[in-house]
Amino acid sequence: MREVDVGVITETVKSLCMEANFDLSQDVMDAIKRAQAVEESPAGVEILEQLQENASIARRERVAICQDTGIAVVFVELGQDVHLVGGDLNSAINEGVRRGYQEGYLRKSLCHPFTRVNTGDNTPAVIHVKIVPGEKVKLIIAPKGGGSENMSRVTMLTPAAGKEGIVEYVVQRVKESGPNPCPPTVVGVGIGGTFENAALLAKEALLRPIGSENREPELAALEAEILEKINKLGIGPQGLGGRTTSLAVHINMMPCHIASLPLAVNIQCHAQRHKEAVI
Ligand code: SF4
Repeated sequence: MREVDVGVITETVKSLCMEANFDLSQDVMDAIKRAQAVEESPAGVEILEQLQENASIARRERVAICQDTGIAVVFVELGQDVHLVGGDLNSAINEGVRRGYQEGYLRKSLCHPFTRVNTGDNTPAVIHVKIVPGEKVKLIIAPKGGGSENMSRVTMLTPAAGKEGIVEYVVQRVKESGPNPCPPTVVGVGIGGTFENAALLAKEALLRPIGSENREPELAALEAEILEKINKLGIGPQGLGGRTTSLAVHINMMPCHIASLPLAVNIQCHAQRHKEAVI
């Protein structure tokens, strides 16, 4: 059994909150560059150029990529041979978020749903914990902006809807979202499980690096089909027209009840932020 002091988790979460908000990952930068090379709309080309410049300035000057620095979504893979000492995990993570958002001058974006009074420190974080084999702790921080999260949906299709129904629903969701999720987007799709599972599958799908192949050939083909249809909608970068509405579609799938076909679409804006560390 390996002992890990939760103080290390707090420090790691603090750094990851700042890094995620300052430093757009290279896979996203590369995807925007590739999209720029094939974009036909002059306004689209210009916006894709500006997004790269914006991300470069943020990285260099250590300022936020976007004013919406997001709700802190934290994925924890906790090795079953780890013994956490010095406090509890949730408090340690929330303290890391609190410090990261304070020290990084990141906007605090959480409020009470009715009164809309800000919680003041961007907590509580949304925390997902998975127990895995081993004696390590993996932390992934994915700040999620409100504009793109608002465009996300979960639906329960009938089993008869099949693959065709899934494609139709996802493309329609992106169409109805228009410019609201700050395109070019990454579209996370969760298929199967239960109502809540589907949403989590879709969110986890966003963590996959852009440009990486889905391990299941059937899903890789479905991703390509949906992406092609989305990019024919003409929404384009920031909704001003063009072929780059989405940079990627990522699908996660698991078995579901014989009576159900749960489907979740989690839309992610161009500020596709996530950073990870292993302790
Ligand atoms: S949706 Fe994304 S890019 Fe748009 S304002 Fe929110 S965080 Fe920023």
